[in-house]
Amino acid sequence: DNFDELRFTSKVKENKVDPHTKFSNERGSDKEYLYIVVIGHVDAGKSTLMGHLLCELGEVSKRTLHKYEQESKKIGKQSFMYAWVLDETGEERVRGITMDIGRAQFETKTKKVIILDAPGHADFIPNMITGAGQADVALLVVDATRGEFESGFDLGGQTREHALLVRSLGVNQLAVAVNKLDTTNWSQERFNEIVKKLKVFLKQAGFKDSDVTFVPCSGLTGENLVKPPSEPELLEWYKGPNLLEVIDKFNVPERPVSKPLRMSINDVFKGTGSGFCVAGRIENGILNKGDKILVCPSKETAEVRNLAINELSTNIAFAGDQVSVTLSGVEMQNVSVGYVLSDPVNIVPVTSHFEARLVVFNVKVPITKGYPVLLHHQSLVESAHISKLKALLNKSTGELLKKKPRCLGNNSVAVVDIKVCRPICIERYKDVKELGRVMLRVSGVTIAAGLVTDIYVD
Ligand code: GDP
Repeated sequence: DNFDELRFTSKVKENKVDPHTKFSNERGSDKEYLYIVVIGHVDAGKSTLMGHLLCELGEVSKRTLHKYEQESKKIGKQSFMYAWVLDETGEERVRGITMDIGRAQFETKTKKVIILDAPGHADFIPNMITGAGQADVALLVVDATRGEFESGFDLGGQTREHALLVRSLGVNQLAVAVNKLDTTNWSQERFNEIVKKLKVFLKQAGFKDSDVTFVPCSGLTGENLVKPPSEPELLEWYKGPNLLEVIDKFNVPERPVSKPLRMSINDVFKGTGSGFCVAGRIENGILNKGDKILVCPSKETAEVRNLAINELSTNIAFAGDQVSVTLSGVEMQNVSVGYVLSDPVNIVPVTSHFEARLVVFNVKVPITKGYPVLLHHQSLVESAHISKLKALLNKSTGELLKKKPRCLGNNSVAVVDIKVCRPICIERYKDVKELGRVMLRVSGVTIAAGLVTDIYVD
């Protein structure tokens, strides 16, 4: 560790300008960037709510809005016009569901907020993991309609799984939109009932009470999204902030700008000019136009020809930024989703064998040695298996309960070794949080989440 620190310091000296100074010079006067993921059960109203919010904030042109209004009238589903603001592809419209991570942004008093929209359909949880892996904070949307909240929250509904997933992926601040409250005539009783149920669950999931805010609203009517409430029934009992104010109050996590560059790739595509593009989030460090970087695990050198944040070209991007990068010097077919752009000196560890501390939440058959899983690490999905069960720990204290347990059941916490079918870029959680988390899934169900505690040399 000391050695690493020394290397960081020498790197900083070479660069001459302290990365933190660079960061504050570049971003200082500007609003801070905040990345938000929107989660919740299918049909909770996520797209409608975010679409309406963007329209109210003037992020959508009158012309586009008019077009969507006409189109949605034509198919007799006028309420869909707001949802379309976020769902841009034809396929999503036909299916009436949000499929992939659409992007949009808006501003609050103190922040530039970038939305990583999450899909609501069960099949798309892998995409959601990508979104949540990049998020600073989450907005959980629940449908307050009688019966609907219950079906989204009870076993099989996605409310619980999404909340557990984002927490396991490191998100610790949450806004909960208690949505569609227009269908209950703005009932305070209903609002309180939902808040009470969710509070108990969210606490168990690992959210602190003080990091969770509940907001009554309606994505459809726009009530309490960006303006003070106007519904008399709501005004009678609600004196709190609107959704925009809640988002503005989120804390922006510290950006590790002085650590060596790490950017995990979640998309590879042909750009408009020469070369090709990769997109992803800078977890650590700074990326400049013209930088020579290493594409890992293949360790090929490439040059950054262009950089863009949310489609706007920039010369420099920092830890926390979601960027697209035009690369040259490496072939597009040699770069895949899940690869990492790394500092050429302090190279990201590459291995197929590591130790993790797992929380098991949902297995039909207890985990034993050799248990096969799909490993999700950022956007990467690889076959893997649990090669060793090393210790069973006490859930709340972390103390050792048993060495070499024979199996792991639901709600257990354990230290295990995991072997992946091929080498991947991975970090210990204590070094780089975002690259030190894994999710394990089996037949479409998330069975466990883990933190990487040790990395073995292949
Ligand atoms: P998503 O799957 O979570 O993105 O949900 P959508 O935004 O597509 O909404 C699902 C359905 O709920 C659509 O028919 C919407 O018109 C409807 N809806 C969304 N928000 C509200 C709301 O605040 N009130 C009412 N009454 N209906 C809503």
